[in-house]
Amino acid sequence: MKYISTRGQSPALEFEDVLLTGLATDGGLYVPEFLPRFTPEEIISWRGLPYHELAYNVMYPFVEGSIPAEDFRAIVTETYQSFPHKAVAPLVQIDHNEWVLELFRGPTLAFKDFALQLLGRLVDYVLERKQQHVVIMGATSGDTGSAAIEGCRHSKHVDIFILHPYQRVSEVQRRQMTTVTGDNIHNVAVKGNFDDCQKMVKASFADQSFLGDKTQLVAVNSINWARIMGQLVYYFHASLSLGGPLRSLSFSVPTGNFGDIFAGYLARDMGLPIQQLVVATNRNDILHRFMSGNHYEPKPLQHTLTPSMDIAISSNFERLLFDLYGRDGAAVSAFMKHTGEGSSMGLEAPRWEKARALFDSYAVDDDATCETIAEVYRETEYLLDPHTAIGVRAARACRRDPTVPMVTMGTAHPAKFPEAVEKSGVGVVASLPKHLADLFERPEVYEVLDNDIGAIQQYMAANWKYAGK
Ligand SMILES: *Cc1c(COP(=O)(O)O)cnc(C)c1O
Repeated sequence: MKYISTRGQSPALEFEDVLLTGLATDGGLYVPEFLPRFTPEEIISWRGLPYHELAYNVMYPFVEGSIPAEDFRAIVTETYQSFPHKAVAPLVQIDHNEWVLELFRGPTLAFKDFALQLLGRLVDYVLERKQQHVVIMGATSGDTGSAAIEGCRHSKHVDIFILHPYQRVSEVQRRQMTTVTGDNIHNVAVKGNFDDCQKMVKASFADQSFLGDKTQLVAVNSINWARIMGQLVYYFHASLSLGGPLRSLSFSVPTGNFGDIFAGYLARDMGLPIQQLVVATNRNDILHRFMSGNHYEPKPLQHTLTPSMDIAISSNFERLLFDLYGRDGAAVSAFMKHTGEGSSMGLEAPRWEKARALFDSYAVDDDATCETIAEVYRETEYLLDPHTAIGVRAARACRRDPTVPMVTMGTAHPAKFPEAVEKSGVGVVASLPKHLADLFERPEVYEVLDNDIGAIQQYMAANWKYAGK
C-alpha cells in the first residue's frame, strides 16, 4: 500500500515512512492511495473472532508490502491482548436499540489507547529493523499524552517528550503521564497554555536542527495515519456484534479533531454498512457549523467540561475534504489556505450534500452534557463520562431511524472526569479501575520549564538518549 498527500504535491510513501513522519512536506496529511474493500461474505466470516484477529484482518491491507503478515499478526495480537478487559471493546445497552461501545477499557481509560498502543509497537518494530532512534514530541491537554506515553514506554528506539500546560490539566490526567517513569520518558510542564505547547511542537517539527542530524521527530497526534488505522477495527467489531454486515448500524461519535469519526467514514467505504454518522461536538463546534450550514470557519477556543474535544480547528477534516473534492489536492490546498487566513469557507452544494447524506451533527453545551449524564444514570444506573454524554445527547437528537441500532462511542471512563460527573448531581463517583487504583500514591516525575521554545528545545537536545554522543 502506498500513501499520498491530501495536497497532492509530496511523493507517495510506503506505510513505514508514513508512520515515521508528521505532515507531508507540502503541508498535507497522508491517506492511502486506495481503500481495501471487503465483501459481505468476507466480513461475515469474521463473526465471533477475538478482537486481535479481527484487527489483523481489517488492518493488514494497509501495511502490506511494508510489514510481513506474520510479524504484523504478532504485533496486533500483543497489542490487544494487553487490554485489561477481555472483550477489549465491550458493548453496553442503554435503551431500546441504543448502545455505548466502551472504548475506555485500555491502559489509560480513553479510546486513544486503541491506536497508540499499536502505534508504539509498530514504531519500535520499524526502528529495530532500520537500526534508528527517533524522538517523539507531542503536546497534550490531557488524554493524548498519557496514551502516547503508555504506548511508547517500552520502545527501545524512542525518546518521548510530552508537553502539557503547567497546572492546567486535571490531576488524574497529569498523574497518568507523570507516574510513568523510564529513561526514555520526559514529561514537561510548560508555564503557558495548551496553544503555547502546540505552537512549540509545530515549530520544532518545521525546523528540527536543534536535535542535530542523528535523529528525527515523529508525530503521535491524530495527523499520524496509523492512528486512524487503529480506529477502524472497532466499527467492524460493533457491527459484527449487532448483526452486521447483514444489517446497517448508526454511530454517534464525540469529536474534536475528527479522527475517530473519520475512521467510521472509511469503514463504510471499505464495505461496512453504516446508515448514519453523528458528529457530536461541544461548544467548539466548527464541525457542527460545517455539517449543518456549510460554513467552515475557525472561532476562538472555549474551555468546556470536555477538554479532549476543545479544539478550534479539526486537523483530520482535511482528509474528508480530500474525498469531497474528488481527491483534488489543489482544491484542498486552496480551501486550507483561505481558512488559515481566517476566511469562512463552504463547498459547492453537491459536494456538501454528499457529506450530509451520511453525516448529521449536533453541538452540546456543558449544562446539556451534565443533564445527559444525569438522565442516563436515572434511566439505567450507568455512569457516562462527559465526552460520551455528548455523543449520547447528539445520537438522541439526530437519530434518523429507530429500527437501526445506534451506537455511541464511549471515548473515556467517567473516573477520568470527576468534575463533570459531580456537576451532574448523580451523587455517585466513579472509581478508578484496579490497574490504576493506586494512581494517587505513585511518585511523579516531571520538569517545569518556561514558556520559551529555546528552553524546551535545549532540554530536549540535552536529554534524548544519544545526546552529545
Ligand atoms: C481525543 C478524544 C476525543 C476526540 O477524538 P477525535 O478523534 O479528536 O475526534 C473525544 N473524547 C475523548 C475522551 C478523547 O480523549
